[in-house]
Amino acid sequence: MPTKILKCRNPECKAWVRDEFATAEQSCPLCNGPMLRSIKHLPAVQNKVKPQPRKRKSEF
Ligand SMILES: [Zn+2]
Repeated sequence: MPTKILKCRNPECKAWVRDEFATAEQSCPLCNGPMLRSIKHLPAVQNKVKPQPRKRKSEF
């Protein structure tokens, strides 16, 4: 299900917070950087975590 989130602008940083828990001027809890509004598709129930291939910096 799509969920509104704020994600860190730093592509190397995986931090994100749910929009409903974010403050008006939310900054990244990990690197203190600026955050962007986004949508995250959260699976209803999924416990497995696959290691994902690294994205190239240039893709961002
Ligand atoms: Zn960050």
